[in-house]
Amino acid sequence: MNTGTYPFSAATLPYAPDALAPAISAETISFHYGKHLQAYVNNLNAAIPGSGFEGKTLEDIVRSAQGGIFNNAGQVLNHNLYFTQFRPAREGNAPAGRIAEAISRDFGSFEAFKETFQKQGAGLFGSGWVWLSCDGEGKLLITQETNAGNPAAKGLTPLLTFDVWEHAYYLDWQNRRPDHLASLWQIIDWDVIESRLPR
Ligand code: MN
Repeated sequence: MNTGTYPFSAATLPYAPDALAPAISAETISFHYGKHLQAYVNNLNAAIPGSGFEGKTLEDIVRSAQGGIFNNAGQVLNHNLYFTQFRPAREGNAPAGRIAEAISRDFGSFEAFKETFQKQGAGLFGSGWVWLSCDGEGKLLITQETNAGNPAAKGLTPLLTFDVWEHAYYLDWQNRRPDHLASLWQIIDWDVIESRLPR
């Protein structure tokens, strides 16, 4: 994913704000995308001049920055990947093609993958993200990251993510994080996930 350089911006939503309900309501989009993500973008852009990170991509920054710049760059990268991976709900939504083959190869089946991924998201203590990534050999793996963490910092290619910060689901699902995560499978745009898989 080419995420550009300073000044950074929030990725354009590829769907209407009310298109993902009930998994993610228009109200959650208005706060999560419109306020939380925009604040990370604004904070990052305010911190870049004079930091030495002018001209660097978000991936470059998360690989080498620390403190506030790392936190805000990580959250911009994480949310841009998150908000561009959805489409309106489809019954029986499932991956196809190369990504489906890679998931079956590395997790046994799509059902087994979903169960493990959801469990890792539900079981992450506090705020963070669960990720499906790909390593340098093309092998898929699931990792948990706390706070602003992104697998790109470890040299992995991030493919799919569930945001488990409470701001991602509390307006719609309150304390029912596992139910929210289960609802997300219907709105994953697997064509986008496959396009992130290196050739
Ligand atoms: Mn978030």
